[in-house]
Amino acid sequence: MKQEVSKENKPAYWKCNLQDVEHTLQEVKKGKLHKLKSSAGKRPIHMIEYGSSNLPASRATLSSALGAHDYSCYADKTGKDYRPTVFLAGCIHGGEFEGTVAILNLIHLLETGVDYAGNTNSELLALADKVHLLLIPICNPDGRSRIPFDNFVGRTFHELRYYNQGTWKDGTLCGWPQCKRYFPIKDHVDYLGGYYNDDGVNIMHDDFFGHMAAETSNILDVCRLYAPDVSVLFHGGTGCKPNITVPGYVAWKAKKRNCLLIERSLRAFNAFGLEFVDNRESQLSYAKEQADIPKDFNLISAMHHCCGEMCITYESNQGLADHGTYRLNNEEIYLSHNLFIQCILEMVTEK
Ligand SMILES: [Zn+2]
Repeated sequence: MKQEVSKENKPAYWKCNLQDVEHTLQEVKKGKLHKLKSSAGKRPIHMIEYGSSNLPASRATLSSALGAHDYSCYADKTGKDYRPTVFLAGCIHGGEFEGTVAILNLIHLLETGVDYAGNTNSELLALADKVHLLLIPICNPDGRSRIPFDNFVGRTFHELRYYNQGTWKDGTLCGWPQCKRYFPIKDHVDYLGGYYNDDGVNIMHDDFFGHMAAETSNILDVCRLYAPDVSVLFHGGTGCKPNITVPGYVAWKAKKRNCLLIERSLRAFNAFGLEFVDNRESQLSYAKEQADIPKDFNLISAMHHCCGEMCITYESNQGLADHGTYRLNNEEIYLSHNLFIQCILEMVTEK
């Protein structure tokens, strides 16, 4: 892939800030724009829809449908012409915008036939044509607005921690996972990191059965209304190899689907010399739910219990200069997201 490096030392296709979203929205003609509930800081949140759902109207809640032993009462996907829905959501945490790059390039590809690098991708286009796509480029615009640059490739672990998780009142880094000790965190920090909306809410750990932030309910509403066959929250994970994190408290069927996607991703990534974490064994385990301090029930778990389907966190490598032993560059990060999205589309469209 040809790389044009702009003045900011990022490739021309590396679009992931709030202005990039607005510019991309202006070219949407084939897709349908949805304005979702605005963020705590009153920033707009957009969803772009391609293709239409042919899901018949739901006649029961998911819980009631499963109680009736008939999922189709909630979402009838049994018709032979059923068109699967894929929901992709970027920038849950403001400093993790690698998925946003992939989503904005996918929109540009769908609208113009080429991505922002000027490349065609006939395979991805053909697959996208067979599905109903729901795309939220930036779920947490407040958090994104607090990251003053667009690229973590080559930056330091300290910069990532400062900008993404913020600092305590004494100026020390909040760090991970200690940054989760307060919810909301706003009154306990000096620098509010990109993890949070303007109220200091980390939407991954919202009060799912009580009062939720608009950013969180946007995502759960999409899952409940459209019953996507696969929903993905794109995150960045410093020095890790790309992976599907292990979700807690989800049905066995969803866990097995995760394993099928991992198997497919391993093949696709390896074909391009990229690695993907093979954590199929831990995907299938319930050991963490059985521990004394059980695994957290997070946004992914809540999404799964809204739609009963496969909901996952994809964790990208962020290309930091000084953290971890695995480091991808911009081109590899973008390629890996495209490969992953292609794997999902292949999986849901396979008969
Ligand atoms: Zn994250």
